Amino acid sequence: MSGVDAQRRAGAEACGVPNVNRERGQRQVFCGLAGIVWLHRKIQDAFFLVVGSRTCAHLLQSAAGVMIFAEPRFATAILQERDLAGLADCHKELDRVVAEVLERRPDIKTLFLVGSCPSEVIKLDLSKAAERLSGVYGGRVRVVDYSASGLETTFTQGEDTCLNALVPQMPVIADGSRSLLVVGTLPDVVEDQFSRFFQELGIGPVHYLPPRQASELPPVGNGTSVLLAQPFLSETARMLQKRGATLLSAPFPLGIEGTLGWLQAAADAWGIPEERVKEVTAAAVARAERGLARQRELLAGKRISFLPDSQLEVPIARFLQRECGMELVEVATPFLDRQLMEAELGLLPSDLRLTEGQDVERQLDRVREDRPDITVCGLGLANPLEAEGLRTKWSIELVFSPIHGFDQAADLAELFARPLVRGALLQV
Ligand code: SF4
Repeated sequence: MSGVDAQRRAGAEACGVPNVNRERGQRQVFCGLAGIVWLHRKIQDAFFLVVGSRTCAHLLQSAAGVMIFAEPRFATAILQERDLAGLADCHKELDRVVAEVLERRPDIKTLFLVGSCPSEVIKLDLSKAAERLSGVYGGRVRVVDYSASGLETTFTQGEDTCLNALVPQMPVIADGSRSLLVVGTLPDVVEDQFSRFFQELGIGPVHYLPPRQASELPPVGNGTSVLLAQPFLSETARMLQKRGATLLSAPFPLGIEGTLGWLQAAADAWGIPEERVKEVTAAAVARAERGLARQRELLAGKRISFLPDSQLEVPIARFLQRECGMELVEVATPFLDRQLMEAELGLLPSDLRLTEGQDVERQLDRVREDRPDITVCGLGLANPLEAEGLRTKWSIELVFSPIHGFDQAADLAELFARPLVRGALLQV
C-alpha cells in the first residue's frame, strides 16, 4: 500500500459526519469584489465595471496587486458624494462610463455591472441599467449585472453571484442530447488536464462555466449533468437545477482522493466502471503520490486550524488530514451547504471541531489557546497572528493558485508546508 493509501485508510477509520457548531457575530472577510481578479483572467472577452466607491477601487487594486496583469479588464465607476446624496442622475453617468469603456475596448463581448455596498445603499437599480444598456449595445455586447457587495457576499461568493447571473442567458440544450457541465473557475491548464481525462474516459461533450469566452455560453437543460469544481457555488447550482440540470454528488477535485472521486462521479453518470477510471488515471495518480511524499514528511503530525473565509476549508482540510497526515484542530467555514458538501462531510473525522459562521473575536481566542502549527485565514487576520508568533496561510492564495487535480496535489500541500519551513528557519 502506498503512503497516501495508508493515510487515507487511517483517516477513514475514524470518519463520519461531524457535528456542526454555528457561530454568529462580527465577521472579518473580503467582499465578493475579490472574485473579479480570477474571473476576469478566465473570461477573456469580459469587462467588469464595479459601480462603487473609492474603497471598492482600492480593494480591487490591492487584491489584484497579488498578481501581475498585462491589461486588466476591470475598472470602478466611482460614485461621488453627489451620487450618494441622491443629487445626481447616476444612470446618466453610468451610461457615459460604459460608452467610454466599450469604445476603448472593442474586444469586449460581455460587460458585467458589479454592484457594491454603496450602490446597494443608494438602491441603484443595476438590473434596469443592464437591461437598458443591453438594448443600446444589443448584438455587440451582452450586459449583465450581479452583486459583489460586502453586505451580501464573502469573497468567493462573488463568483457565485456572477455565474448565477449568467445561467438565465445560457442556451437550451438540444432535445435528447446530454452533456457534462463543469462549474467553477479553473485555470486553463487544469481545465485542459481534466478535458483529457474526460476524453479518454469517453465522457462528453464537456462544457465549462465560466467559459473562456463569455460570448460562447454552454447549453443547459434536462440532459445536463453538473459537476462542481468549486464548493462556493450554491446559488449557481440551484439555478442550474431549476433549468433542468442534474447535480452530481462528488467530493471536490482537491488532492488525489478528491480528484479520483470527482472523476468517478462523472464516470458513474456515464456508466463507466471504476476499473476504467483507475486505468486512465493510474500514471497521474502515481506522479501525484511521488510529489506528495516529500510534502507529507513536512506536514504529517502538524496541527492546523481554519478560520472561515474561502468556503474551500472543508475539502482542503479533508485533503490535508487524509493525504498529508495533518491534525485538524478546527475547521471553520463561512457557510456549510450540506447538499454540496454531502460527499465531503463523510470523509472528515467524526470528532472534528467543525464551525459554520464567524464570531471573529471568539475564533481568535480559540486559535490563541490552541496554538496550531498553522492557521489559514484572511489577509486582515494573518499579520496580527504572525505578530503573536503563530504561522499563517492566506486563504486568498488558494483561489489564486492552481490547486485542483492530480498534478497540482503536491503544489497544494506545499502551500501549507512553506510557512512551516519558513517558521522553522526563523527559529534556528
Ligand atoms: S463592496 Fe463594500 S465591502 Fe467591498 S470594498 Fe466596496 S464598500 Fe468595501
